[in-house]
Amino acid sequence: MPAFICTACGTQYPPSDVPPKQCVICEEERQYVPPGGQGWTTLERLRVDRQTAFRQYEPGIFGLGPQPNFAIGQRAVLVRTPNGNILWDCTAFIDDATVEILEALGGVAAIAISHPHFYTTHAEWTRALGCKVYMHAADAKWVMRPDVNIVHWEGDTHSLLPGVTLIRCGGHFPGGTVLHWAGGAQGRGVVCSGDILSITTDNKFVSFMRSYPNFIPLSGREVVHIQRAMQPFSFETIYGHYMDRVIRHNGKAVLDASVTRYIAALNGTARPEGE
Ligand SMILES: [Zn+2]
Ligand SMILES: [Zn+2]
Repeated sequence: MPAFICTACGTQYPPSDVPPKQCVICEEERQYVPPGGQGWTTLERLRVDRQTAFRQYEPGIFGLGPQPNFAIGQRAVLVRTPNGNILWDCTAFIDDATVEILEALGGVAAIAISHPHFYTTHAEWTRALGCKVYMHAADAKWVMRPDVNIVHWEGDTHSLLPGVTLIRCGGHFPGGTVLHWAGGAQGRGVVCSGDILSITTDNKFVSFMRSYPNFIPLSGREVVHIQRAMQPFSFETIYGHYMDRVIRHNGKAVLDASVTRYIAALNGTARPEGE
């Protein structure tokens, strides 16, 4: 039996004879059902005309994701540390070439995912790579394909490997998580942020939303909470949701300036009236 995948968001459901009636993730206000209706596919179908592309951002960090793009445009990040490799976030597409390349790069000690829009085909990835996947327990109800390899972690931070920390920021989802690697950016630190801290189109700021497709902002309280959660960590570089969304330098200062800008926009103090 095929395990159907939603073409709009990339979420995979348990094996079934016919596709699910609806995609729970797309029906919820943070996502959307396309105007043409819900569509379904399978990994077998995707493998006909897709492959995984890799991009090296810096020594130790690769971005990877399907070409052509699929669903929300998810891409994963391979973080290669002296103590083991972490795969950050997940894409719906996986094939033998993807697995063999990852194995050749040292394998994957664990997968960690920022929030439910990246859960995608996690069960296929953990099975193929022989590892566990870490998701925050606060978002457990959004797991559409329960699996023995899921580890639901709790609390505000979780140490995955020496120097690699999961940080629960909340916001976009209650369990919204980012990954901090102290050894990245030549020891100045990097953050992989998914769209928990969403890098803006000009690659100069980050911003924050409950729903990106439906333009539902977060409250000031939630955004200040994100800033406080990140406060103990220093970082130079932020890798965002898409391949080309990267803030190379002064990541921590960019986050602080972005929070200030966001709060000023909410309060109506960002600019003189009439401008
Ligand atoms: Zn969906
Ligand atoms: Zn999302």
